[in-house]
Amino acid sequence: MKLKAISLFIVLLISNFSWSQKSIIEIHKTQNGEVQIQPILHSSFILTYNNKTIYVDPYGGANLYQGLKSPDIILITDIHGDHLDFKTLDSIDTSKAIFIVPEAVKNQLNDKYLAKTEVLTNGQGIHRLDFFIKAIAMYNLPEETKAKHPKGRGNGYILNVDDKRIYISGDTEDILEMRMLQNIDIAFICMNLPYTMDINQAASVVLAFQPKIVYPFHYRGKDGYSDVQEFKSIVNSKNTTIDVRLLKWYLNN
Ligand code: ZN
Repeated sequence: MKLKAISLFIVLLISNFSWSQKSIIEIHKTQNGEVQIQPILHSSFILTYNNKTIYVDPYGGANLYQGLKSPDIILITDIHGDHLDFKTLDSIDTSKAIFIVPEAVKNQLNDKYLAKTEVLTNGQGIHRLDFFIKAIAMYNLPEETKAKHPKGRGNGYILNVDDKRIYISGDTEDILEMRMLQNIDIAFICMNLPYTMDINQAASVVLAFQPKIVYPFHYRGKDGYSDVQEFKSIVNSKNTTIDVRLLKWYLNN
């Protein structure tokens, strides 16, 4: 009985936690409306503009998406399970969703999704609904085919939403393609070892392309979470105008 009460308490605690995580929505005014951004888990988030909803790398299970608007577009960056998560995909209502993915992801999709899948290779872009979506390279350095993320397989993305340009890094290191970006309003930047880059590399590349707002995400590494507070300090010690925003991307961090 006591055990039952404890497990009920834990269930309540967890459900309450995921509720509070769901309730965080960042709002960015654009010329003609607003972009809403809701972090879900790791590198998964939901972006809404003009009643259109984009899911980025849906991951983490059905619970995290319960009660949320179903997607009009699903963007997937790469083939790994924290980005292409069939358990989550199969559990959400994808009936009206267009999938925008790299070729390597398309090759793993089943017929249910394939019919409405668009492939972008690095450098290509398409207009869909209210968005222009461009694929950007994401990869590890040095460039090797045996790398965890070889160049050309996955896609980072730039979304043009009204007058805002939003960059999603994908799993990448401090690559030239990111360094050269211009006029980015909002950037989602990965930082976790040994998969992507450490906070110093991430700070260095952010200081190079100077997005207006930065959300560190995808920061759970092999040995725990990267110190995103320290990342923010490094960036702001060299540039006080970059607005680094720390959101809750994990249940316990
Ligand atoms: Zn990843």
